[in-house]
Amino acid sequence: MTIRGEATVVKHTGSHYLLSCLPAWNLFPAVLRGKIRLKGSTSTNPVAVGDRVSYEAQDENISLESPAVITAVHPRNNYLIRKSTNLSRQEHIIAANLDMAFIVATIDFPEIKLPFLDRILVTCEVYNIPATIVLNKVDLYRETHAEMLEAFHNIYEGAGYKVMEVSALTGEGVSELREACKDSLSLFCGVSGVGKSSLIKALDPELDPKVGEISDAHLQGKHTTTFYEMYPLSSGGFIIDTPGLRSFGLVELAKEEIALYFPEMHRASENCRFSPCTHTHEPGCAVKEAVEEGLISYERYSSYLGMLDDESKYR
Ligand code: GDP
Ligand code: ZN
Repeated sequence: MTIRGEATVVKHTGSHYLLSCLPAWNLFPAVLRGKIRLKGSTSTNPVAVGDRVSYEAQDENISLESPAVITAVHPRNNYLIRKSTNLSRQEHIIAANLDMAFIVATIDFPEIKLPFLDRILVTCEVYNIPATIVLNKVDLYRETHAEMLEAFHNIYEGAGYKVMEVSALTGEGVSELREACKDSLSLFCGVSGVGKSSLIKALDPELDPKVGEISDAHLQGKHTTTFYEMYPLSSGGFIIDTPGLRSFGLVELAKEEIALYFPEMHRASENCRFSPCTHTHEPGCAVKEAVEEGLISYERYSSYLGMLDDESKYR
């Protein structure tokens, strides 16, 4: 007798999907029936990790030989896309239905690049994913970089983001992060070296992202797609690790759109004399005034100018 149900995609292996009826972790394999295409989608993967799907199976005994069949993909609350290059039309959906993103960064070791962080934050805003900044390795620089740390909090909390200080090494702040992950699906991203893998392992010692990364690189070679995967945290909640951030933050935005995704500028721009306003040369620009008064940080404003400049280069 055919059984029907709803589940969440937790992994795509290339040949099949693994589903689970979250919050239970009861993985079972599934395949796509015929052509499921989302309207208007140009992505290389019609079904992504985090998608909620309807499935059918012949009976309760679902196995690789007799997998479930995905019959429908439910509408997404949000999703995150990756492009192979800035000019490429090919898109790959990294994950869908994310409750939040944790952007792991360090003030130093490696030194933080604020324009890059701002691009990731803009990407999260574009895709409507609440972002929290997680400063890792504070054990290394809290004393030596106290002023920079304070400035960082002022810049990003001023822009409306939550900033957490943690150390995967000493365990400081890890239980707060664990608490923040509970009951949610969170994306973890960060440039290599910031300690993202160590932090995930500190959250749940059962998880070891580096191990997967090495074997995947071996199996997949250079030219194949990276497959993203969901992991359950034993303390509650689910996470998706995103190795390789290189092509992240390559959203194509029209010049006049960019400021919409800097929340503090978007708020201030209501009082600009002109609309649209690029917040560069226009008289009566409320954003520039706010920068001059120190209400919007100069660093965020420079990132904005940098993005404006890049967008005109590529257009
Ligand atoms: P990933 O590339 O972001 O996944 O970074 P890893 O987890 O591999 O960590 C990179 C390096 O930073 C390793 O040598 C870790 O031992 C070190 N590391 C990670 N977290 C911390 C931390 O909180 N404090 C200190 N001092 N070192 C850390
Ligand atoms: Zn303006």
